Amino acid sequence: MADFTRDTLCVQGGYTPGNGEPRQIPIVQSTTFKYATGEDMAKLFDLEASGYFYSRLQNPTCDMVAAKIAALEGGTAAMLTSSGQAANFFAMFNIAGCGDHIVASSSIYGGTFNLISVTMAKMGVQATFVSPDCTEEELEAAFRENTKCVFGETIANPALTVLDIEKFAKAAHAHGVPLIVDNTFATPIGCRPFEWGADIVTHSTTKYMDGHGVALGGAIVDSGRFDWMAHAEKLPGLCTPDESYHGITYAEKFGMAGAFITKCTSQLMRDFGSMQSPQNAFYLNMGLESLHVRMARHCENGQAVAEFLEAHPKIEKVHYCGLKSDKYHAMAEKYLPNGSCGVVSFEIRGGREAAGVFMESLRLAAIETHVADARTCCLNPASTTHRQMNDEQLIAAGVPAGLVRMSCGLESKEDLIADIAQALEKV
Ligand code: PLP
Repeated sequence: MADFTRDTLCVQGGYTPGNGEPRQIPIVQSTTFKYATGEDMAKLFDLEASGYFYSRLQNPTCDMVAAKIAALEGGTAAMLTSSGQAANFFAMFNIAGCGDHIVASSSIYGGTFNLISVTMAKMGVQATFVSPDCTEEELEAAFRENTKCVFGETIANPALTVLDIEKFAKAAHAHGVPLIVDNTFATPIGCRPFEWGADIVTHSTTKYMDGHGVALGGAIVDSGRFDWMAHAEKLPGLCTPDESYHGITYAEKFGMAGAFITKCTSQLMRDFGSMQSPQNAFYLNMGLESLHVRMARHCENGQAVAEFLEAHPKIEKVHYCGLKSDKYHAMAEKYLPNGSCGVVSFEIRGGREAAGVFMESLRLAAIETHVADARTCCLNPASTTHRQMNDEQLIAAGVPAGLVRMSCGLESKEDLIADIAQALEKV
């Protein structure tokens, strides 16, 4: 299947039924699997044979959907998780533990920022945050002896900055560590970070991949290109025997193509248990089947809305990398030539109050914390996610009081623009 285009992989990747088998992926709603002998099972436990024994570790439905996502990203192996948060935590914690250090872009989703700066810090993992716009020298200065990975988002939520993946990959590789890229907003339809040097990709599948606001989920994909053994002294977790798993050395036994995901499944999924349910994986697959068609429309609507807003006198500024005036336009032309996403941020003149009147006057866009699904939704960070900050603090954080984040859905762009126009008249 790997030689097919992304459009075809969206529809048919991950599962090819045999004669008389279901056309749609079967939901294997079973926690456990039956074997004839204890010996058969022992081989599975020892990772000597592949197969299923308990759905906390692996489930056939989840594996089919993971295989589709791996194919879409151009990776060698993938796994599903219960949420995007779990995916990002597992991807980083699979490499960096107590006493280690991470370099991360400062322009990332707030939940991931908190995960790294608070929760992982409590677990003994330190981090240095760098601006995605930093110079190569500034990026270089962020590394320490104990740095184990680099993390960033292709298109950051909510700042909509675009990551210079090549710059971050080059710096990571110069230090013998992998680059992890959260590709949630771009999706593999917009950008395949492995083609630019990233080693591991993560997703909150809750967003565009699901695309209908139905199921929380996450995914981790391995490019299969990072040579763990070449950096064995830095990455002992993958390159020395795992006593908690029968003394297996993942990088030796599963090679570059399989070591990362096998370790992540056998250690972290085993111990933390943040698996995706087969039912949610089925919903995710339904979303993936139309991802390529939907992304084109999300981008078309985002671009049209951004252009309308940019020309409107009541709008101070629009953030959307598809606009020629946007700071990240050149970066987007390089990494996202087919369009970025449907999320547009803009500042309404008149601050928090004006943003409130505007949003309450919209008929189509609902006020939600969610983004990236079929129905247009919006949010004013100053009165919701960032409400503890005063106006000065909001400006310092890059979220001025009048900022509205709008996630353009799949409705008609004419209707969306007409709705925005009438709401702006009320401001
Ligand atoms: N990564 C990005 C870029 C996100 O936008 C989000 C959530 O908004 C997450 C990760 C976390 O995903 P989830 O809500 O599925 O845990």
